[in-house]
Amino acid sequence: MLTIGVTGGIGSGKSTVTKFLDELGAPIIDADKVGHGIYAPDGPAYGDVIAAFGPGILASDGTIDRKKLGPIVFADANALKWLNSIVHPKMFARMREMIEQLRAGGERNPIVVEAAILIEANWQALFDEIWLVMASKERVVERIARDRGLKPEQTEARIRAQLPDAERKKHSSIVISNNGTIDELREKIAHLWRAALVRNS
Ligand code: ATP
Repeated sequence: MLTIGVTGGIGSGKSTVTKFLDELGAPIIDADKVGHGIYAPDGPAYGDVIAAFGPGILASDGTIDRKKLGPIVFADANALKWLNSIVHPKMFARMREMIEQLRAGGERNPIVVEAAILIEANWQALFDEIWLVMASKERVVERIARDRGLKPEQTEARIRAQLPDAERKKHSSIVISNNGTIDELREKIAHLWRAALVRNS
């Protein structure tokens, strides 16, 4: 039974693809949400992150305050690497557990994990297939300006800071080009899902 990772750059259309897969019946795991959970006081990264960055990152209620941790790691590439080296393996383990729980509960459909940083975090081993969503810089800039109000130069700076799509492609089994309309994307995903069901059976 297949486990599919959906990845891609900022504004490429990952969430839209995942939403369509959800509508088609795929169980979905959102890596961002998993990330939030592991920082929680009962989560697996809580103690290690405080040990690494000190109690100064805590809010008064004892939770890790992302607004305090963020500036530390974004100002220092080594600190970010360190944080990632703590958090990414724990996210991997948690996602594997969630996949196993779904299977143990009788889930037979392909399971889909949406993970923007799938390749950067080295999570490839979790997946049978990696689906890469790609859109041209022009389309991304235009969509992000329209839907999130970011200026073109802000979006372009974010694109430059990310892993290039050429690199993502090396790890991907399926490349989904999202330069057309939403309806075209929906159609592509319906087709890809049908084919995935065949591989899954
Ligand atoms: P991020 O990683 O930045 O959260 P994402 O890869 O999940 O982004 P989406 O949120 O799915 O991308 O898409 C970015 C924006 O572009 C959304 O507002 C979405 O509605 C819109 N969008 C996605 N695909 C298309 C399309 N084919 N045509 C028009 N708009 C689109």
